[in-house]
Amino acid sequence: MTNIKFTILNKEEILKERTDWTKEEIELISKAVSFSQEKHKEQKRNNGEPYANHVIITGRILAELNMDTTTIVAGVLHDILEDTETTEKEFEKEFGKEILFLVKSVTKLPKLKYQGEERYAESLRKFFVSMASDVRVVVIKLADRLHNMQTLENVREDKRKRIALETLEIHAKLATKFGMQILKVQLEELAFPYAFPDEYKKTKELAGLIDATSDKRLKDITQNIKFVLDTYAVEYIEIQYRIKHLYSLYQKLRKYDMDITKIYDVVALRIILKDLGDCYKTLGLIHSEYKPMPGRIKDYIARPKANGYRSLHTTVFTKDGQTSEIQIRTKEMHDEAEYGIASHLHYKEIGKNKSKEEILRKTGWTKNLLDIQKEMEHRDDFMHHLKTDLFEKRVFVFTPKGDVIDLPEGASVIDFAFAVHTNIGAKISGAKINGKLESLETILQRGDIIEIITNKKSHPSQKWLEHVKTSFAKRQIHKYLEKVEKEQVKIDVKK
Ligand code: MN
Repeated sequence: MTNIKFTILNKEEILKERTDWTKEEIELISKAVSFSQEKHKEQKRNNGEPYANHVIITGRILAELNMDTTTIVAGVLHDILEDTETTEKEFEKEFGKEILFLVKSVTKLPKLKYQGEERYAESLRKFFVSMASDVRVVVIKLADRLHNMQTLENVREDKRKRIALETLEIHAKLATKFGMQILKVQLEELAFPYAFPDEYKKTKELAGLIDATSDKRLKDITQNIKFVLDTYAVEYIEIQYRIKHLYSLYQKLRKYDMDITKIYDVVALRIILKDLGDCYKTLGLIHSEYKPMPGRIKDYIARPKANGYRSLHTTVFTKDGQTSEIQIRTKEMHDEAEYGIASHLHYKEIGKNKSKEEILRKTGWTKNLLDIQKEMEHRDDFMHHLKTDLFEKRVFVFTPKGDVIDLPEGASVIDFAFAVHTNIGAKISGAKINGKLESLETILQRGDIIEIITNKKSHPSQKWLEHVKTSFAKRQIHKYLEKVEKEQVKIDVKK
């Protein structure tokens, strides 16, 4: 037996996160920490560490997320009802109704296990329904999971992969759904090496190649952008750059045959500005400085993503023969993108004459949760929604003249032809993709240049329906087939 000495964590672990605690808050946190240490004192984590360390770190993560004190305290107490003899009565006497409610909710959440897509949808459904009354319950659960992932190496080897897969498929996706980028990224990066070890190594290798050259390059671009913004007196808060985190890079690589040169946002610059008007002004300045890549300008401010994400994105040619994605947003949008739902539960917002309910209502989150719940009453619809809204990606392709056509991933030459013009779709007989003759069923890849060959005698057929993805093309083909059928009937009648 090895004799490892473990640090016994205390309330300072949480208190160090902030400087503006009130006296009452400090007292409450101290009380929760002592209570947990006492109740969990016989219990140890897998590595022999005192169990209370786990709940204290859960509390610290919640403090890092700027959650209110009630939530932090509930985090410190989150395993008490499940793992100790403490009764609800005793708990309520010490900490009151609200904290009891939160901890009971965390305890009651269905145990989620990833068991394939069908069951996964069911688990998520249960999860949403049970937590919908208070989103803080989910945030506590995710903080708990994050610490469990940080200590996954202490878990028995045969269990690690399953836990890591669950984390990717359930917890990270929940964090995405709630727009909590900061948690999503950490959960994914911790889970990736355990869930898919070989793929992780390969991705890391590829990213390493980029990493080595990008630092100097990004510094130069940042300097230049600062110069441009200063010249035009646009006030910015910060310009930062990031290299795509490995799991998200891996998911993209999979779509592009592990070819990293096809991925445009491996590195991205982020310009954080004071106000909204400056975002569009900055986009204009960037485009006059660097040539934008067609089809890569996205206005998520005018049309936010399903999880509330707002930002302007553009990919530009950076004069060194390379490209870079640039994201432009205000500080408020940035915090929302990093913390998502948690940014609305910020401790400074809560209590200042504002109730949590009010904040959630104001920010649209109550409505959002109700929508999600409603969707989940029809499970198939829910899976569909998850897939289309969160996961469906677009491909941008070009006409020979350089017009951009925006299609869903998996779209074929036929979809393209109909998107260009109904008559072209109806008369298509062949196509050249990047100068090479290809069949009509060919699935288009991002950046393809497609030249359509038409023939007066060509017409849509039943078989085409199997090869189209857009509902527009489907409708047009159906229309044609119905028309032909009617004419056929007329001819038969005449006979
Ligand atoms: Mn726990």
